[in-house]
Amino acid sequence: MFDYQAPENLLQDRIILVTGAGAGIGRAAAKAYAAHGATVILLGRTLEKLEQVYDEIEAAGHPQPALVPLNLESAQEHDYIELANTLEQEFGRLDGILHNASLLGVRTTIESYDPVIWQQVMQVNLNAPFMMTQILMPLLERSNHASIVFTSSSVGRKAKAYWGAYGISKFATEGLMQTLADELESVSKIRTNCINPGATRTQMRADAYPAENPASVKSAEEIMPLYLYLMGDDSLEVNGQSLDAQ
Ligand code: NDP
Repeated sequence: MFDYQAPENLLQDRIILVTGAGAGIGRAAAKAYAAHGATVILLGRTLEKLEQVYDEIEAAGHPQPALVPLNLESAQEHDYIELANTLEQEFGRLDGILHNASLLGVRTTIESYDPVIWQQVMQVNLNAPFMMTQILMPLLERSNHASIVFTSSSVGRKAKAYWGAYGISKFATEGLMQTLADELESVSKIRTNCINPGATRTQMRADAYPAENPASVKSAEEIMPLYLYLMGDDSLEVNGQSLDAQ
C-alpha cells in the first residue's frame, strides 16, 4: 500500500472535481477529499448516486459539495464549456481534477471486439478526459497548486489478452498524462500524474473477475493515501509519474 498519512487539513479550501464520483473508487475519493477540507465537484452519469454521496458528505459536516450530472459518453464540447463557466462563476478557479470514470467494455479478442463498444470505451476513458482537461485548463492555471490525476491500470502498462479497448485506453491515458506533464513542466504550476489503483473491490472489479471473492481485494477506502497525496501539496514536485496505489 502507498505509504502516506494525510494531514487533516490537507485540502482545506481546495476546489476538486471528481469524475465517476457516484460509485466505487470515485465515491471514496470524493469523500476522502471532502473529509480533508475540499469542496468537491461530484460529476457522474447517475444523479441518484451523486445525490447520495452529496448527502453523506453533508451529513459528515464536510464542505458542501457541488453536483454535476453529465454522461461522458455523450458529452460534447459545449457541455464542458458550460461546466467551465459554472465553475468560474462559483469558484473562480479549480485546484484539481481526478479523472476516475471509466467503462470496462467487453472482455474479448481484438478480432471479435464490437466497434460500437470500442468507441464508447474510448469516448469515456480517453476522449472525455482530454476534452475536459483542455477546457478546464484556464481555471487550473489560476490555482497555485493544481493537480491533474488520471486513472490508469496495470493493463495500460503491459498489455494483456482480452482487455481490448479498456487496456488500450489506459495506455493512451498514460500517454496523455506524460505529454501534458512534459508540456506543462516548465511553463505552468500544474502537475499531472497517473494512479494505478490495483485490484479494488468495486462493481467494475466484480464485472471483470466474476469468480473472485470480493473480500480478497482491497476496499476503495483502503487505497486513498495515494489519492490524497497526489491532490495535496506534499506532491507539488511530482509530475509525469504513474504511481501504484497498492
Ligand atoms: P466503477 O465501475 O465501480 O465506477 C465507475 C464510475 O464511473 C461510476 O460512478 C460510473 O457511474 C462512472 N461512469 C461510468 N461511465 C460513465 C459515463 N459515461 N459518464 C459519467 N460517469 C461514468 O469503477 P471503479 O471504481 O472500479 O474504477 C474507477 C477507476 O479505477 C476507473 O478508471 C478504472 O478503470 C480504474 N481501475 C479500477 C480497478 C479496480 O480494481 N476497481 C483496477 C484498475 C483500474 P455509474 O455508477 O452511474 O455507472
